[in-house]
Amino acid sequence: MQQNRPAVILVSGGLDSATTLAEAKHAGFDLNALTINYGQRHAVEIEAARRVAREMGAARHVELDIDLRSFGGSALLSDREVPKDRTNEEIADGIPSTYVPARNTVFLSLALAWAETLASFDLFIGANCVDYSGYPDCRPEYLRAFEVLANLATRAGVLGAGKIQVHSPLLTLTKEQIILRGLELGVDYSLTHSCYDPTARGLACGRCDACQIRRSAFERLGLTDPVRYADSTPHQ
Ligand SMILES: [Zn+2]
Repeated sequence: MQQNRPAVILVSGGLDSATTLAEAKHAGFDLNALTINYGQRHAVEIEAARRVAREMGAARHVELDIDLRSFGGSALLSDREVPKDRTNEEIADGIPSTYVPARNTVFLSLALAWAETLASFDLFIGANCVDYSGYPDCRPEYLRAFEVLANLATRAGVLGAGKIQVHSPLLTLTKEQIILRGLELGVDYSLTHSCYDPTARGLACGRCDACQIRRSAFERLGLTDPVRYADSTPHQ
């Protein structure tokens, strides 16, 4: 039996990464899911990542502990208040305090290291430059630059055994388009978690940027977000 090509997919447990994993599966790759436990305050994400990887039939799921709290520098890595109830204009303006310094470079580097050991040339990341335009490491030019680096930085790239590619299938999609595509691919969004500041019981706050972007996208589509929010009970 012919084996599928392996891909390494960064899976945070959020809506975007679940959809990205589904795209990799749809493209016929063997799924190697990589979840970085970087000390984020929303560790409930890790459980969501586990559920998503299992549900999608990932061949392997590695959970890697890299505690970025040692550096700090982000509202996600400290007790600093996560911004809540911001308007769309505020969300779209500038680099938010939830930006984690160089996070995608750290994550993609780890994904690249794993990919090389798996003889994989395909990395998947759920980066998006529409809703989170304030994150510098979600821009297309950043991802292309990382691809160049990946091919210069590895034995696999230098020996010309293949060309390492960074796939970011959601890059230019709106949140609504991402959700529609995910539903088409059979993603169960009830397994995912997007909130930056969940309650102790793991419920989404409904008010941080991630909750607002996600929730309003479901609303605009006339769909019910299957995730449970602290400030409301799910619609019937
Ligand atoms: Zn939230």
